[in-house]
Amino acid sequence: MARKPRVPYRSWPLALTASAVLLAGGCGGGGSAEGDLGKGTQDGSETTESFEPPEPTKAAVDPPHGGQTPDKGWESEAEDAVAVVDNFWSAHWNDHFTGAYTSPTVFGTYIPGTAEAPSCGGEPAVPDNAFYCTTDDFIAWDAALMSKGYEKGDAWIYLVIAHEWAHAVQNRVDGLAVEAAELQADCLAGAALYGSADLQFEDGDSDELGAALTELADDTPWTNSRDHGDAEQRINAFSTGGSDGVAACLPE
Ligand SMILES: [Zn+2]
Repeated sequence: MARKPRVPYRSWPLALTASAVLLAGGCGGGGSAEGDLGKGTQDGSETTESFEPPEPTKAAVDPPHGGQTPDKGWESEAEDAVAVVDNFWSAHWNDHFTGAYTSPTVFGTYIPGTAEAPSCGGEPAVPDNAFYCTTDDFIAWDAALMSKGYEKGDAWIYLVIAHEWAHAVQNRVDGLAVEAAELQADCLAGAALYGSADLQFEDGDSDELGAALTELADDTPWTNSRDHGDAEQRINAFSTGGSDGVAACLPE
């Protein structure tokens, strides 16, 4: 996906469908900083689910550069992703919830083991993770996790941030989080990314993304966390949010 350019026009080679959009892994609940976004359990079965993006509801912007963009760096992509997701929730908060929307703090990048790395609930941030800290209301991600994922495509950056942001949303609304909180976060991530007026989805990147997520997931420790859904369930959850929006992710 690509954040729609302001001025000057820029475009990104992002993509989001996925033969396997795996935002999995257990997510830490409570005040812990334990592994969050992670991959779903790879049970060896071929995941053939494909994400069907919703029909565009806005005129597609025609990228002047053929949809391919220069590598702008994952840090810059992360800044864009934060803006995109924050803007989405700010714009749509009252479509679904009462009260005023507040953004979580974005701690952003950390390097595990350094003095600057954040702790959450007394637990230090761990390598290859991204998480939302419930107790201190911030989002953070390991630089290595992002840079590694970015090698496979910039969609990864957006997915990680949208998913973690969804946990902040869950923490803001009493009664919102369902038992399958990870799947709900995947659903909300899909809703935010596909519902964003700031993002432009381009054709042709989906396979790359699906492969990237799958490969990346295999290298992350996230799967060590409690699982709340297998790969297919996660893809379905993400797709549901992407296709049907936030309302489809809320408790019945
Ligand atoms: Zn999570």
